[in-house]
Formats: sequence, C-alpha cells, structure tokens
Amino acid sequence: MEKTKKRDGFKHSVAVAYGDGIGPEITQAVLNILHAAEVPLQFEEVVLGERLYLAGHSSGIDDGAWEIIRRNKVLLKGPITTPRGGGYKSLNVTMRKALGLYSNIRPCVSYAPYVATKHPNMDVVVIRENEEDVYAGIEHRQTDEVVQCLKLITRPGCERIIRFAFEYARVYGRKKVSCFVKDNIMKQTDGLFYQVFQEIAAEYPQIESTNFIVDIGIARLADSPSDFDVIVLPNLYGDIVSDVTAQLSGSVGLAGSGNVGDHGALFEAIHGSAPDIAGRDLANPSGLLQAAVQMLQYLQLPTYADRIFQAWAYTLEEGYHTADIFEKNTSVMQVGTQAFAQRVIANLGKRSSKFKLAKAKSGESLQLKPYIRKEPARKLLRGVDLFLDWRGVDPNELAERVAHVHPSLELTMITNRGVKVWPGRFEETFCTDHWRCRLEAKAGEVDRLDVPAAVQQAILAGCEVIKTENLYEFDGVKGYSLGQGQ
Ligand code: NAD
Repeated sequence: MEKTKKRDGFKHSVAVAYGDGIGPEITQAVLNILHAAEVPLQFEEVVLGERLYLAGHSSGIDDGAWEIIRRNKVLLKGPITTPRGGGYKSLNVTMRKALGLYSNIRPCVSYAPYVATKHPNMDVVVIRENEEDVYAGIEHRQTDEVVQCLKLITRPGCERIIRFAFEYARVYGRKKVSCFVKDNIMKQTDGLFYQVFQEIAAEYPQIESTNFIVDIGIARLADSPSDFDVIVLPNLYGDIVSDVTAQLSGSVGLAGSGNVGDHGALFEAIHGSAPDIAGRDLANPSGLLQAAVQMLQYLQLPTYADRIFQAWAYTLEEGYHTADIFEKNTSVMQVGTQAFAQRVIANLGKRSSKFKLAKAKSGESLQLKPYIRKEPARKLLRGVDLFLDWRGVDPNELAERVAHVHPSLELTMITNRGVKVWPGRFEETFCTDHWRCRLEAKAGEVDRLDVPAAVQQAILAGCEVIKTENLYEFDGVKGYSLGQGQ
C-alpha cells in the first residue's frame, strides 16, 4: 500500500455527489467498495443536481456546493438529471468550464469474452477538449429565420488538450494519437486544431500521429476500433465519439471518465441518471467504479486502484453480471447493484486472468507545460462583413444600397448562408433573410473608424445591420473564410 498517508490516516479529502436517478444506488455501491478496500480517503458529501435545480438554481449548484468542491479539488459525482424545459443549464458544462477541467479522458475497453461485444479487441482512449467549441453556449437569434451559435476554438485550448493527449500516450505507453476534425470545411476553427496537432505531434516522433476528417474517422472507428489507440478531438466531436466508443465496448454502463484540469478533477460514469431503472437495484455501478479507479490513479494511489480494478475484472470473469450485460452464454448469475458491489468486495485481493489496468510507466508523469503566449502577429484590418436582416429577394437591390456606404470600402460579394449570391446568383440558390455583405479596402489598410462610419451609412440607407465581423490579416495571412463560390 502507498506509504504517504497523512497523520490522520487520510491522504486526501474528496467531495462526493450522489446525484439523481440511479446515482444514489451506484454511488453507495462504489463507496462501499472503496471503504472495503480501505482507501485512505475521506469523503465529504455535496448536494448537486435535481434538488437544486428545482429549488431555483438554474445550473443545479449553489454557493455551498461550489465551496465544498473548490476546497476538496476532487469530486466523485453520480449522474445528474437535467430537468426538461427551458431555463436550466447543464451542470456538467458549467462545472467543467468554471473549474477549468479542460480534458475529458474516457478509456473504452472491451471485456470479451466475459461481456458480449462486436469488437473484442478494442482498447481506445478518447481525449476530448472540454471547455470550448460550440459549448461556449454563445447563441443568438438574429433574424426571423436565422439563429447562430459561435464556435470558439483557441490556441491555448488546442495546445493544452493536444499536449495532454500526447503526454498521456507517452506516459501510458500508447503507440498512436489520432486527431478528428472537419478542417476541409471549417478552415479557421478546425484548421487551428489540426495545425496545433501537427506542431505538437512533431515534438513526439516516437508516437505515430494520424488524422481523419471526423465523419470518416467515426465510420472507421465504428467498423474497426482496434485500429485506434488514443483519439483527441474538439469538444462536440469528442462528446459524440466518446459515447459511440463506450457503446462499442459493450455497454454505456461500463465506462468511466475523468475531467481533469490544472487545479482539480471530476470523475463520473459516462452514462446519465437512467430514470427508467432508478430505485430498482438494477443499475451497473461499473462506470462509476471505473471513474473512481481513475480518481485513485490521479490521487497517486495506484496500488488501491489496481486492487479494486482487479477485483472488479475478476467479478466480470466469474460471470456475476448486472442486467445490462447479462447474457445466458457468458454470465453465471444476474445480480443487482448492491450484490455486484458485495461480490467485488469479496473478490478484493483476487486477480483477473486476462485484464490489466492501464498504468503510467514507472516514474513517469504527464509533463504539461504552461501556455506561453506568442509575440503578437502583425494584424491589419482589410475590411468588414456587414450582416443584414433583409426580407428582399434580389441581391442586386441589396448591392445598390450597400455599395457606397464608404468611399474607401468596396463591396466585393454578398453571401446568404455562406453561398455567394452577388455578383452572379444561381436561380436555384435558396436565400433566407440573413445576408452578409463583404466590404474590403480599396487600397491598403482600413481605418478602424471607417467601420462604424460604414455601418451608420448602411443604416441610413435603410439596411438593418445585425452584426459586423472585422476582416483581419495576420502576418499577411487572411484570418477569415472566403465566400463559398457556386
Ligand atoms: P442514460 O445514460 O441515463 O440512459 C440511457 C440508457 O442506458 C437507459 O436505458 C438506461 O437504463 C441505460 N443505463 C444507463 N446507465 C446504466 C447503468 N449504469 N446500468 C444499466 N443501464 C444503464 O441517458 P438518458 O436516458 O438520455 O438521460 C437520463 C438523464 O441523465 C437526463 O436527465 C440527462 O440529462 C442525464 N445525463 C446526465 C449525465 C451526467 O450527469 N454526466 C450524462 C448523460 C445524461
């Protein structure tokens, strides 16, 4: 056992939220196993979720809960029910962003032949960026017909998650890191993620790096997961891919996840609160137990992590299975949540004949560098995109109104949903009430005061300007997408 216990016998204090639905059952089962294994942790309960949502806290958390979590720095969390209807924010997204938990690590492993799966050799770790992308939650309705969501991808965000993925691969002895993006379409946002991936991959020549357009990447993963090792992705793709990957391994009830940042971590099962089976002692506590095992590794308690993992894997091998993974051919006995936990406890000290807990190489730990801001690029203002709410149909009419809003700016194109409709519109192109008029400097750089002057003139010409986006060049490279031609 680890030797570094505090004098009071506990090495760390951990906040525990029992959660909603099946949360209390699986959390109690997991805590029973942790207590039986005599982990040197003390647990402080924190109330989160449905009860707080219904008491009027729109994010499902109150000041007292924040205080307990921030003081403990580590949270083991049962799943939370997000009430239906407007006005409620996702507690998970709120906590990940507020606590800076930028990486989400989901190991997905097949436990064949003991758990039925179509992919018996699968061992994939999905590392998902956890704070950015469309999850920034910046959305606006701009016209009668159009709403928008801002997708924010940042260099520090990319550097941190991609370095984390390569460091994870190095420390856990993984051979390959794959990046999934859609940079053929989103050349700026996904383009930045892939550019940083290439930069950081070059620092790890001993680790193979591959990249896929996300759609074909997911298709290949679903077909042949054993071709993949570590996968790193921006937030939205990571959310989708990690659920697909967990399901491929056999059951959503099996996988745990760690949300890790520079100042703390949150560990939880990947599944939700399963209200359909809540209170019936049917739920599989394995996902939350896997999360707890990850937590013990994070807390530098590898011997405890291994002992619990081995007892759990031995229990699966014995054929004591909860309903979600029970199969006549592979199972010996169907057990409830608490009986499964009791069996794991009885098996503490036993070892699986087949499965090993993925461990960091001896003496190795993730070497995560602080982000260092680069020297600023030479940034030149080259023009502005004016976005207009307009119910007309003929882009020539709009062009006449906008073409002369400023003597130093030239109207170079009009697009509708990103498709160029001026000059030259195809009859087939469908147009909404949301138009983008690109104004570019006739020569050199645009004076910043020309932009509000152009907006004012456009308004006086009868245009409803709903927003503007400045067009910048960085070190001579355009920092904006070109209009999609027809
Ligand atoms: P879910 O994951 O709760 O359930 C999907 C299906 O999987 C259900 O049939 C359920 O019975 C089964 N299942 C899930 N966990 C299981 C387990 N441990 N053992 C056996 N079977 C299990 O997804 P859902 O029904 O879409 O969501 C229910 C609630 O959970 C929603 O309010 C949702 O917002 C919330 N949710 C919370 C989290 C979280 O707290 N991290 C994650 C996802 C969903």
